[in-house]
Amino acid sequence: MEAETHSPRPGGEKVLLFGGTFDPPHNGHVHFLKSAIRAAQPDRVVVMPACIPPHKAASATPAALRLAMCECFRPLFPALEVSDWEIRQGGKSYTIDTVKMLEEKYPGASVYLCVGSDMLTTFTEWRNWQELLRRTTLVAQSREEGDMPALRAAARALEAEGGRVLFTDTPALPLASTDLRAHRRDLSLVPGAARRVIEENHLYER
Ligand code: ATP
Repeated sequence: MEAETHSPRPGGEKVLLFGGTFDPPHNGHVHFLKSAIRAAQPDRVVVMPACIPPHKAASATPAALRLAMCECFRPLFPALEVSDWEIRQGGKSYTIDTVKMLEEKYPGASVYLCVGSDMLTTFTEWRNWQELLRRTTLVAQSREEGDMPALRAAARALEAEGGRVLFTDTPALPLASTDLRAHRRDLSLVPGAARRVIEENHLYER
């Protein structure tokens, strides 16, 4: 049964891309990725920590440690890879470049792109967002209670531009890496494999 589910589909695989800073990964990310897998039914999941996210200040945490922390996602799906591709490219990481790389690596792939609510509502600020809309299906997740009307409106506007937006069916789990970096005591909200990297490397201590 499993082999059948994860063999390539005719015309290529469904690849679910989960990008972010992951500084650190937290249970909100896990919640989102699980829901996105349920919604998109991918053949493969690619977790991609950014080198420098274009819309944020560069992370103070070494990229190698953010990559190591992303190992916490591995148990969520049998065909899940944690990729260092954006980190190896260096500089700002633009999703459009990553999508093109995945399309080359997995010929015929349909790329599904995880976007939390903050990413969906600012999608038109992304580099080459119209092209991204044409090349991917967005998988959207609420992050805050009450944000669904704004999300539906953002999705309608993107659909009017030819985009495809799939919503997960799960309620928000409001957590943000920023808060975890500020309140290291909340590390119970970080999956065990990532928490070990934090503790061994004394991350986020002040
Ligand atoms: P920061 O607080 O440093 O800005 P973050 O918590 O937003 O970080 P990112 O690594 O930037 O985490 O997020 C990666 C992806 O996961 C983005 O699409 C983001 O919208 C989504 N995401 C982050 N936290 C949640 C959450 N609690 N629920 C749903 N999606 C989330």
